[in-house]
Amino acid sequence: MAHALFASVAQSTGGIALADNNSHVNRIQIPNSKGTKSYIVAQNNRGGSDQGRWECSCPGWCGHRKCKHLTAMLPMLSQLGQPDKLALAFASM
Ligand SMILES: [Zn+2]
Repeated sequence: MAHALFASVAQSTGGIALADNNSHVNRIQIPNSKGTKSYIVAQNNRGGSDQGRWECSCPGWCGHRKCKHLTAMLPMLSQLGQPDKLALAFASM
């Protein structure tokens, strides 16, 4: 059920649902604005204070902990739950 919801949220962001890996869950591959490459938006699953934080693999997020991808996607991603961490993600933007 959770996976069906995740797949539908991933699709609504224009991305592709990916399998979880060792460090992240709810991974979504999204194309960049030019369509020349792709980034991965995912939720941190390493534990600690970053647990549940939404992250993006683009240079903007890596450098500044904010990016247009996550800003645009968070309202849709919020359907997946963990509202506390989502609020943190919003606050950091
Ligand atoms: Zn990004």
